Amino acid sequence: MKFQTLLYYCYSPIAEAEQFAADHLAFCKSIGLVGRIIVADEGLNGTVSGTVEACQQYMDHVLADERFAKTDFKIDDVEEPSFIKMHCRYKSEIVHSGLRDTSIIDPNKKTGKYLEPTEFRDMLNDEDVVVLDVRSNYEHNLGKFKNAITLDIENFRDFPEQINQLAQYKDKKIMTYCTGGIKCEKASALLLHHGFKDVYQLHGGIIKYGKEADGKDFEGKCYVFDNRIAVDVNKVNPVVLSTCRNCGTKTDKMINCANPECNEHFTQCDACGEQLLGCCSEVCTTHPRRRIYDGTGYYVKVPHVG
Ligand SMILES: [Zn+2]
Ligand SMILES: [Zn+2]
Repeated sequence: MKFQTLLYYCYSPIAEAEQFAADHLAFCKSIGLVGRIIVADEGLNGTVSGTVEACQQYMDHVLADERFAKTDFKIDDVEEPSFIKMHCRYKSEIVHSGLRDTSIIDPNKKTGKYLEPTEFRDMLNDEDVVVLDVRSNYEHNLGKFKNAITLDIENFRDFPEQINQLAQYKDKKIMTYCTGGIKCEKASALLLHHGFKDVYQLHGGIIKYGKEADGKDFEGKCYVFDNRIAVDVNKVNPVVLSTCRNCGTKTDKMINCANPECNEHFTQCDACGEQLLGCCSEVCTTHPRRRIYDGTGYYVKVPHVG
């Protein structure tokens, strides 16, 4: 059996989005998909996985809806489905920025100029260009474009308050990038709102860049929000960027701490993983509900009961 994983988003207003989310969930389940979809008044954002046939059926279904006709699906072949269950939830935004005022930020009206992967690649090393990673610490620690500026943020909702730190680049060409492009739609719109003049965004994000520009000059791995955790991007000049948090050797293995209450995302080498039973620290190894480390450091979330 062959499987695929689809990554996509579409900024397009949805009326009665809560009802839409319920109907959409039922549809996804009916064709046997697994994954996670966020539905908001402003659009759709998802990663779904299933057989090649189910994925095709899903794409046909979404693209047939004129609201989502411009959705760009990033398609990966995978060994097994990248999720266990199917979730489709209504939220206030499809990517949480805390900026819900569409009179300030509305990617459908104003956002950075799209750069296709090969255009982005060709501009990467230009002198007057600033490459800005708009993702969070655990993502850019694992991999990022060579020379990219990163921000010390735990979550994308912290991005707006970091903009002041970028004031020195106001007169430069700013090229933003993220995993699949969705954060850049808002990040670049916000930069324009704050007076940055020349703002571009990598269309389709790192994932599409890996497919269409062979990932050139992307260092390390790309963090993804499914049970693959990280994927390879660079087929031209790859390097390992990240180091084991416990011993400092180069590793790009990303795990969750086996202590369910810590659950911290971090990089750890196999040797330290064995020694610390998949925990971030000695302290975490003593937790009474410590989970069994099977070498992957990936744990299916178990919902709280009672
Ligand atoms: Zn180590
Ligand atoms: Zn821990």
